[in-house]
Amino acid sequence: SNSVLTITMNPSVDISYPLEHLKIDTVNRVKEVSKTAGGKGLNVTRVLKQLDVPVTASGIIGGTIGQYILNQLDEKKVDHAFMKINQESRNCIAILHDGGDQTEILESGPSLTEDDENNFLEHFEEQVSEFSLVTISGSLPQGLSTALYTKMVKVAAKHNVPVILDSSNEALRLALEADVKPFMIKPNQDEIAQLIGKEVEDLDDLKEKLATEEIFQDIPWVVVSLGSKGCFVKHIDKFFKVNIPKIHAINPVGSGDSTVAGLAAGIVKHESPEDVMKRAMTVGILNTLQEKTGFIDINQYKDYFEKVNVVNY
Ligand code: ATP
Repeated sequence: SNSVLTITMNPSVDISYPLEHLKIDTVNRVKEVSKTAGGKGLNVTRVLKQLDVPVTASGIIGGTIGQYILNQLDEKKVDHAFMKINQESRNCIAILHDGGDQTEILESGPSLTEDDENNFLEHFEEQVSEFSLVTISGSLPQGLSTALYTKMVKVAAKHNVPVILDSSNEALRLALEADVKPFMIKPNQDEIAQLIGKEVEDLDDLKEKLATEEIFQDIPWVVVSLGSKGCFVKHIDKFFKVNIPKIHAINPVGSGDSTVAGLAAGIVKHESPEDVMKRAMTVGILNTLQEKTGFIDINQYKDYFEKVNVVNY
């Protein structure tokens, strides 16, 4: 199989309220409401689907909000196999107002228990062996241990399934410190600095830190995304800078998730390391060219792919 299992532990319905002006302590009326299935892992899922990679979305979901998300996935013909719970999944509200301001109201979502965690690990273990790769994205809902991603990486490894982990803080740190490590991580520069507790000055400094910091050893791929500057990569014992063309970004939100989808696609298609990196950057760029999050125009793929180049560093 060449199919991918994507994990979203705290999916949401992302509600967008465009308002000319946000008035405080009174009523705001909104006409053009958009409500879409959200969460970083679902962005990865959507982009994989657009890249024609077989994909199944999993994680934990519940309630009528959860059902709304599942209906949206059904409409887009996306396969899903979430563990259901008796609590409502969350709504996340973004108010777009006053010429470019964005005010967000983010629910924390369900509060889970150790039983939920163990049930989910069983659920995950039952499904994982049918896939050739797992992507895990985003943060954990309340109540689950920060070591859950570490445990999932171990379960996947038991079935020889590699994991791309795109998380941050303690959940990421623990996974990197474990005996069984993820196959790939895709931190941005902030997440790197957070992990090692030091600022990164420039690319030479980044290379030095990736080469020497204990936490980055024995992970086959560390892809550090650098926004409009492309990415810097450690693959086994080699280092690469991937340069991307200058473009006019429309909406960069979700570019990191799109990059993860590109990486996953390249890996399950057994592409060369160079092509995996080029594909990931191309998909990231294509996302920034769209208004919608986690959406690409595949017809633009070839043009941009040709403008991405990988250099040894
Ligand atoms: P997010 O959290 O918004 O999903 P991120 O910080 O995880 O993003 P970025 O490094 O911002 O990830 O972006 C990932 C990739 O998307 C970049 O490596 C690049 O290929 C593309 N990208 C992002 N922003 C731009 C931009 N302004 N111009 C061109 N490409 C971009």
